[in-house]
Order: sequence, then C-alpha cells, then structure tokens
Amino acid sequence: MSLLLMLRDQFPLQFCIMGGILGAILGSFLGVVVERLPASIQAEETMTDGLMYPPSHCAQCQHSLRWWENIPLLSWLLLRGRCVHCHTAIPARLLMIEAMTSLFFALSCWGFPEPQDFLSLWIVWCALLPLTLIDLRHLLLPDAITQPLLWGGLLWNALTGHLLLVDALYGAVAGYLALWLLYWFFLLLTRREGLGFGDFKLLAALGAWVGWQALPTLVLIAASSSIIFYFFTRQHSGKNTIIPFGPGLSVAGIIVLTLQLADYIV
Ligand SMILES: [Zn+2]
Repeated sequence: MSLLLMLRDQFPLQFCIMGGILGAILGSFLGVVVERLPASIQAEETMTDGLMYPPSHCAQCQHSLRWWENIPLLSWLLLRGRCVHCHTAIPARLLMIEAMTSLFFALSCWGFPEPQDFLSLWIVWCALLPLTLIDLRHLLLPDAITQPLLWGGLLWNALTGHLLLVDALYGAVAGYLALWLLYWFFLLLTRREGLGFGDFKLLAALGAWVGWQALPTLVLIAASSSIIFYFFTRQHSGKNTIIPFGPGLSVAGIIVLTLQLADYIV
C-alpha cells in the first residue's frame, strides 16, 4: 500500500494512465465473464473450465484469435469491430465494457489518491459491472460473483478499517433480511414473486462494503434508478415485463461507496 501511495504521489498522471490500462485489461476479462458465465452455470461446468476453455475465438466461424486480435480496446478499433476471418461483427458491448472499466479505473485513482480508496472502487466495479450486464440479459445474479463480493467486503473492512467490522457484518445481515422480508410480504400479498434470491445476496454483499448505516440511502437510489429504467424501457418491452433489480442495486452500490469515500455520507 505504501509503495502504491508513493508511486501515486510521485507520478500522478502516469499512475492514472497505468490504472486505465489495467482497467482495459481487466475489462477484457469481464467481457469474457459476461459472455460465458451464464452458459457455464447452465451447463454446470466448473468456473475455470467455463471461463478459460475454449480459448478466445470468433463465435461465428470458430477462428482462434491471435495475440494481436486480442489486445483490449486496440484490437476492436484496428479490426473495426469485425472478425478478421469471416467479417462477422464483434459485439460493440465488449468494447464498451473495456472502455468503461478503463475510464472508471483511471478516474477513480485520479479522484481518490489513497490506494485503499481506489482499490476498493476497482474491486467493487469488477463485480458489479458483470452482475449488471448478466442480470439485464439473463435475469440472473450468479452466486459465483455475489458470494466472493460479500466475503471480500468483510475481509476488506477487517484489513483496512474503512468501516468497523461489526458495521460491515450488520450491513450484510440487514441487507439480506430487508429484501427477504419484502419478498415474503409481497408474495403473501399478491401471490407473485417480486424479487429474486440473487437480489438478497447482492444487497447483503453491498451491505458488507458500505455498512448498515448506508443501506436506506442505497435502497432508495436503487429503487429510483430501477423506476427510471422501467419508464425508459416500457414502450419497447410491454406492460408485464420483469424488471431486474440487480442493475439498480449495482448503480446505487457504486454511487454510495464513492460518496462514502468522498466523505459526503457516513
Ligand atoms: Zn469469424
């Protein structure tokens, strides 16, 4: 940590550019997680088999990517978003994931010079971005991401003292219980399921990162952003569509953690 702090102090611009490059590389891996994890869960493969095999290839013609077709950000731009072999379009969302992660990494170490602050934002981003995209497409919040996020939050607060461990622990318990109670209340009232079990686990994980005191603010931001999302997508998707809550919780998680690190909220 002290080495990181010294480097960040001595070479702020270079450090943030390196942060951006690391973000692009990790963003490339997050793209693989988003594309492969849901199918690998369905096929009941082990996590490493599902994510690592087969090596990167074109989904259309199965052509294996050479190293220069696999450079984060640059390859997509050089190849103009098309497979070099069969010219099928490579999804633009992969470029977006790399670009957004790169930008987020660079900006967060620019705005928060303390290594423990920007590292916590990096870790939480790497879990919340794939959760958001997977929940939007598959209505699924995989345990393979929410569970390590929960343990990671408790461990992070134990190691860094950002929050008292007991506040993080109560945050995890209260996060789970709040949505679990809401689920049963809604079910008994309407005989319909209003939330998924993944939502409880995600709010528990976020509670472990931001503490129980910040949960009401977090849920308020999550609910408001989900309602805004609902109104924007309503025309396209009809009246009775299921609106995933994971993206709203994820957006709220990043906002609340950032505000906490900037000392705007407790
Ligand atoms: Zn191809």
